[in-house]
Amino acid sequence: MSNRLMLVLGIRPDVIRASLLIPRLKQSLGQNLIFVWSGQHYSHNLKDVFFSQLSVPKPDIELQPDTKSETALIGNLIEGLGQLLLREQPAACCFLGDTNTVLGSLACASLNIPVIHIEGCMRSYDWRMPEEKYRTVIDHLSDVIYAYLPAYKEQGLAEGLDTRQIVVTGNPIVDVIDHYFRSGKIRLSSQSRRELFRRLNVGDQNQPFALMTCHRRENVENPTSLRRVMNLVRACGYQVVFPASYRTQRSLSEFGITPPSNLLLTDPIGYVEFLELLDGCAYVLTDSGTVVEEAAVLGTPSVQMRLSTERPEVYEWGASIKFDPTIDYSPSELLHVHEEVKALASRSWTHQFGDGKASERIAEDLLLRLNNPSTLKGHKPHGSGKPFSRNWQ
Ligand code: UDP
Repeated sequence: MSNRLMLVLGIRPDVIRASLLIPRLKQSLGQNLIFVWSGQHYSHNLKDVFFSQLSVPKPDIELQPDTKSETALIGNLIEGLGQLLLREQPAACCFLGDTNTVLGSLACASLNIPVIHIEGCMRSYDWRMPEEKYRTVIDHLSDVIYAYLPAYKEQGLAEGLDTRQIVVTGNPIVDVIDHYFRSGKIRLSSQSRRELFRRLNVGDQNQPFALMTCHRRENVENPTSLRRVMNLVRACGYQVVFPASYRTQRSLSEFGITPPSNLLLTDPIGYVEFLELLDGCAYVLTDSGTVVEEAAVLGTPSVQMRLSTERPEVYEWGASIKFDPTIDYSPSELLHVHEEVKALASRSWTHQFGDGKASERIAEDLLLRLNNPSTLKGHKPHGSGKPFSRNWQ
């Protein structure tokens, strides 16, 4: 059997999170790594800028699914990936996260090609969220799962997944921030920083400001929730820099929502620029999973603008507070959210996302398994307490 690995990624944070893993795999596997881009994100500032800023090797194959609807994208992706899998015959196919792209794993299931899932076993236990459904589906289709924290592994075990299937690695976002940002590799010079602030109209860079990202369906496809997010911005005493996804910009205009005067709305920006803002802001308002992690690692307090989260540990560490856009907050409650998050800044926390070696661990384990294909075979979930069916070894 070949030791060819197919790696399928498709959105902005995938490139960021796998930026240290891809070169490692490429170095060891050479032509036997087939890096496929699903085409879920395709514009320059949601895709190409991350490859170039982080020097990530470009995908070998780029699918171009129909992106006019979520279902068209998923259907096209399964079909396109199925054809590629038949042609390339990899020993296993690796996915990351909980997006439309990971549903490509259904093509692997249909062809009985082992599935590997990075970022496995995270759960919000909120079945309203498509991402919760996607991550549950891929975990239960997977043969090997890389889980970031022991608590996530426990969640997988509670669903009947087998302990031999789940490897705890730490969170690669810690590696990424250490390697690129803390080391100074992608820091902006003070002049470029000044220019960035001028371009974003932040004014004097010594004045405190807040940063915001907001793109989740439950927030931007629901006018009431989006209005409440804007009310939270209005109650912030600072200017709020908001690199907004195109969908969010569309929703603001479709719902006729006039952004508050302290909101500095701009198109999505590059990672170098975003990390400078995240590191330099007083706090961040966000519904993004990755931004909450990055903020916790950088020591920036955050407000998670979500009813539920698959990253509850940031609340326990005192790194984040919750704002729930399904609730109508009074003006004084909105002010209280800002007071609470400002108070977090005066206390420090120690994040427990990992030691900066997660990418290395994932690569090492994957390469070992590729050299020993029987270890790519998953184990049947035992749910009822019966570990194995009669014929399973
Ligand atoms: N990010 C960026 N530019 C921006 C907004 C976000 O580089 O204008 C980065 C951010 O640092 C994080 C990732 O994009 O690494 C988050 O992406 P997103 O919120 O779309 O995804 P999620 O984490 O919610 O899946």
